[in-house]
Order: sequence, then C-alpha cells, then structure tokens
Amino acid sequence: MNEVKKVDQEIYDLIKQEERRQADKIRLIASENYVSSAVLEATSSVLTNKYSEGYAGKRYYEGQQIIDQVEELAIERAKELFGAEHVNVQPYSGSPANLAVYLAFLKPGDTILGMALPHGGHLTHGAKVSISGKYFNAESYGLSPDNGFLDYESIREKARSCKPALIIAGHSAYPRELDFEYFREIADEVGAILLVDMAHFAGLVAGGVHQSPIPYADVVTTTTHKSLRGPRGAIIMCKQEHAAAIDKAVFPGIQGGPHNHTTAAMAVAFKEALAPEFKDYARQVVDNAVALSDTLKKWDFDLVTGGSDNHLILVDLTNKEVTGKIAAKALDRAGIVLNYNAVPNDKRKPFDPSGVRLGTAAVTSRGFREAQMVQVGEWINAVISEPENDRLISEIAEDVASYCREFPAPGIDI
Ligand SMILES: *Cc1c(COP(=O)(O)O)cnc(C)c1O
Repeated sequence: MNEVKKVDQEIYDLIKQEERRQADKIRLIASENYVSSAVLEATSSVLTNKYSEGYAGKRYYEGQQIIDQVEELAIERAKELFGAEHVNVQPYSGSPANLAVYLAFLKPGDTILGMALPHGGHLTHGAKVSISGKYFNAESYGLSPDNGFLDYESIREKARSCKPALIIAGHSAYPRELDFEYFREIADEVGAILLVDMAHFAGLVAGGVHQSPIPYADVVTTTTHKSLRGPRGAIIMCKQEHAAAIDKAVFPGIQGGPHNHTTAAMAVAFKEALAPEFKDYARQVVDNAVALSDTLKKWDFDLVTGGSDNHLILVDLTNKEVTGKIAAKALDRAGIVLNYNAVPNDKRKPFDPSGVRLGTAAVTSRGFREAQMVQVGEWINAVISEPENDRLISEIAEDVASYCREFPAPGIDI
C-alpha cells in the first residue's frame, strides 16, 4: 500500500482502519468472507487496464492474446469445480447475473415465482423495489408458519395457479438445504425455466458438503464472493442449449466490458476451491454452524427451523425481549458483527425486525472450529442478556480482539 499512502493518505488510512476492523472482529455476516492474498493480488493487477467486450476469440478490440487465456482458464476451472456444461464468468455481481437470466428468458410482464424477501429471498427474486419486481409480474412463495421450513406442496400450488415462466430457487437467509428435485418437478409441471441462485451456499456445493443444483436447474447463478471465497463477482452456469442466450444477455444485453482483474481473481479462487483443503473448509463451515446452533440452543435461543444444515443460522429473538436491531448494534460494539433480519411471520417491520442472521464462512476461513464457536455463542448470550451494559460490552470487545489475534485472517497482514 506504499503508493496509495503516497498519493492519497486519507484513503490509505481508511483502508488500514478497515483491515484492523476485519482482523479484530468476529465476522458473522453470512454473505462475507476473507479471500486469500492470492485472490487480492490478482484483483489489484494490471488486467484492470484492458477492455475486452465480447468473448474469447470474438472480441471488439485488439490485444486480447492474454485476456482470452485468462477468461478461458476461469471458465474451465468453474466447469471442473461445478460440473457445468456452459459457464459465463463476466457478470459484475450477483444482481446483474440474475438480471441477465431474466433478459435471456423473459419478456416484460412475464410471471416469475421466487422466495419472498421477508422469508429469505433476495431483492432480485421479484421484490417490488427491484427491477425484477417492477418489470415482471413477481409472485412469491414463503416459509411454513408452523416450522419455518419451505412448504413444497404450497410452492407447487402457487406455481399451478400463477403459471410462472421462470421459477427461482435460492435465498439469502434460509438455514436448510433446498430440495432441487422437488423444484425441478414443479417447474416441469408448469413448463417453467428453473433458475437456482446459489449465491450463499456455492462454497458448500464446491466443497461437496451440499447437494449440487447443476443436474436439476436450467440455469444456476452464483456470486463468487460469499461462501465460495473469491473476488466480488458472479458466474452463470447453464445447459449447452441455453449457452448462446445467456452469453448474449450478459453482453451486449446488460453489460459492456468484463472486469478482467476480477476474472483472473475468480480463476485463482476456483483453483483454490479445487484443492483438497477447500473440502475441509466447507465441512468445517457446516460443523461450525451446527456447533454454534447447539450452543445458542443451550442458552434458550429460538432458532428458525431449530438449527442449520448450511452456513446460516436465523435466530428469532422474540423470547429474549430484545429486537434484532438492538441485539445487532450491541453485538457490533462487542466486536461480533452480524445483521438484523426478519424471521418468518415477523410481527415487526423489516427495518426493525425480530431476528438476527449469523453465518460461519468468514470465521471458518480464519481457523475457528467447534471450540471457538462455543466461545462465540457464550459471548453472544452475554451481550444479548444485557445489551445496555456498556462496561460488560467493552470488556467483551477487548477479549474478542485478543482472541482474534490467535486466528490471523487470510489476506490481512497486521
Ligand atoms: C448476495 C446475493 C445476490 C446478489 O449479489 P450482489 O453481488 O450483492 O449483487 C443475489 N442472490 C442471492 C441469493 C444473494 O444472496
């Protein structure tokens, strides 16, 4: 960072402060992770200087001798990692990736069916404030009010009645594995395209601890920066028959030139994910979620669906007589960073909901295992029991920071 320091002291100082924050806090935000130094280096390479609209072998500018190879390597590795027939590595992020899929298969006004935002779906799955809800007739399905699980029979009924052109399976806050076979059956019954958006759990699929949606879905999108632990970006995978439609939708449909530095960093991350250690990471992510769930249950926390089989835990704090926001803010002061989140059938408003969402990917990347998750659960219980006890909270923050020093975070050299 010597050059940044010379040119722009203010941004240098802010980056250093953020490094310190990421090093000293326990990061339980379910969508976040720590990428390796190798991924960081590729991200900051000169590949950012090159324009390369188009695809390998058919670009609109000269000088693509190297970039074509970078993009082809990223594609080949993604194919190997996920067993996909066709991969597009150009989407700038998860939201544009989904938009490209809609452009490929839908006309404005067509019906889409996705998981409702307050039940754990993503904005881009048809929320009214998103282009997906403004340009399409967005219908939604949700969780069972009885147990917080997806109720597949009611999804089937909803699909029969609204006849969607496209069904989206995938979420940002559902702590259980999805039944892709069931979604496939429903899509076939109503003649819909099945899109699986595996942004959150792609790392678990890559690591072999979560069923893969590839055999079931027509199209699979995923961000590369969540549990998959790559740079900020996204990929779209599909059957060969949809390859041309997907590629055309990404470019020239919604994007211009790809971010080649990101493509290179994806290739690095996919190589890391193909290595045997990544399987250990993925298994540990799930084991850690189970360990943290068990600890929280011991302290009488009410977990949506009663637990987790991925990296995600959703806690309903109603019985603790504290709101999600108060809990999240107190925990942040204690050095434990997560987000407030709606729970199924939440009586409170989305900006001030009843729950918090926790994820175990980032802490697993820095080496936390079951024993550490027990400690984290105990700190969470202590803070939520007394969210206004500032003395207790600052003591915990100090303990958290010194605890974190024993588990150096990848990519951060402090
Ligand atoms: C995070 C997420 C996205 C969007 O990713 P961005 O990179 O933030 O645009 C899309 N779908 C799901 C399910 C997500 O969790």
